[in-house]
Amino acid sequence: MINSTAEWVTAYIGLGSNLANPAEQIKFARIAIAQIIGVKELAFSDLYHSPPMGPQDQPDYVNAVMSITTDLPPLDLLRSLQRIENDQGRIRKDQRWVARTLDLDLLLYGEQLIELPDLSVPHPGIAERAFVLYPLYEIAPNLLIPGKANIADLLVHCPVNGLKKLAAER
Ligand code: ATP
Ligand code: CA
Ligand code: CA
Repeated sequence: MINSTAEWVTAYIGLGSNLANPAEQIKFARIAIAQIIGVKELAFSDLYHSPPMGPQDQPDYVNAVMSITTDLPPLDLLRSLQRIENDQGRIRKDQRWVARTLDLDLLLYGEQLIELPDLSVPHPGIAERAFVLYPLYEIAPNLLIPGKANIADLLVHCPVNGLKKLAAER
């Protein structure tokens, strides 16, 4: 039966790329996300440039944050995001924070706290990553991060860590 009563929830996605023309990867991903059935774009941040986390022998990243409204359950949304990562040539490695064409993290799903084997929401890094908090603040300055704090308070305690806004067009 089609669930016509499913609620539409506001969710936030962190986008990152540091291979194969990162700014283009982010732009393609934005289009692909908006084309998922059950997803509509609400807002998209500027593009940012950030030094890599973890292994330093990899290029800098281009990052952005997008808000959407969706009637997909969180795990279905995650699977759709992973399909887009795969479609854009992501090769999965066992190691975290290695170079990739596209990384799509589900940052927030409404006000839900989710702890599943494949999905933690809010995303565990959300409160201390400049490349997440600054673009997130740009599109949602009044956001309350469930279980943590409001975004303005998190931002005050988050060093810029080399993050720069890209001057390029959106
Ligand atoms: P990090 O999650 O610290 O940013 P990463 O993005 O490099 O590191 P990945 O290799 O992309 O990590 O993902 C590893 C696993 O994280 C995925 O298989 C996925 O199931 C899981 N995961 C848990 N919570 C989330 C989330 N909120 N968004 C995306 N993936 C998540
Ligand atoms: Ca990530
Ligand atoms: Ca990820």
